[in-house]
Amino acid sequence: MSVELRIRGTHLGGAIGDALGAAFENTPSSVIENALGSSKVGDYEKGIPQSLLGGHPAGMPTDDTAMALSLAGALASSRPITAASIAKAFATDFAENGRFKRLIWNGGVGGAVARALGRLERGGDPETNGQLEDGGNGAVMRTHVAGALPDRQDVLTIAAVQARVTHGHPSAIAAAQAVALVVHDAIAGRPFSAALPAGVEDAVLAASWRAMHANLKRRSGLPAHLRDVAMSAWETAAAAHAIAYLFENDVEEGIASAAGSGGDTDTIACIVGAMLGAVHGENALPKRWLKGLRERAAVEDAADSLIRRYYPSQKRAVAVAAGRS
Ligand SMILES: [Mg+2]
Repeated sequence: MSVELRIRGTHLGGAIGDALGAAFENTPSSVIENALGSSKVGDYEKGIPQSLLGGHPAGMPTDDTAMALSLAGALASSRPITAASIAKAFATDFAENGRFKRLIWNGGVGGAVARALGRLERGGDPETNGQLEDGGNGAVMRTHVAGALPDRQDVLTIAAVQARVTHGHPSAIAAAQAVALVVHDAIAGRPFSAALPAGVEDAVLAASWRAMHANLKRRSGLPAHLRDVAMSAWETAAAAHAIAYLFENDVEEGIASAAGSGGDTDTIACIVGAMLGAVHGENALPKRWLKGLRERAAVEDAADSLIRRYYPSQKRAVAVAAGRS
């Protein structure tokens, strides 16, 4: 499969997962199951009243996708890629008239990102802007787009650089590296492994990874320990990877299960979607999810801008392959 289809699969899979999970953000899996009569989110839903984004339009992605689009813009256009260029993209894109502000619906960006943007506005140093106490999901929800960088060492470096712009907890930074590397390895066509990617060094993340991957049995649904996962970056990244691993051969089941898993459903499903999208490519994503995805054009543009910059020699036949003209 071509790199193009995998990169587009990463971006679209991430946005689809985000939009599916958005309707249930911050609600327990039991509430989701009651609302849907199923533990899987098979279609886009309007944000249920109990969720963080009650009333959120069906099929609309959230800050996860907004941040991924902004980061992808920085990776596609800045030479060299630095903390300053990434910080500038965030500050510009999420300003009052910024191009991705419209995607930050109701709930806004996460607290750590909001505070980080405030510090940048006051002249904070982008390289050290993230604070030690900030270990939430803001840095892992967008980092999959860095997996498109062709060089593995660059992925490791840039995933950490982009994380530090908003988050300073070392395990959150490592979690961002892990997600980007999993996507990178899939784009490179390597087999999907259960292991924490080589090069990521963090004891807290490693322990969480072991716990989330313990006793996984494929084809048996989502085990209890992968439901209602706490909202630290390291638990989220490890759980999302375990779900993607569990459903490696079934993109639809994997994303639908992640979106119904409870807690930070949009971010978990976003990461699972990005990983499985990289493994299987754009054409494996269910057509009804692609059709119903709002902001699809912006997501595709972001993927294509990375493909143009980093894989210019490869023939582009994606539109034809995906059945569009
Ligand atoms: Mg979100």
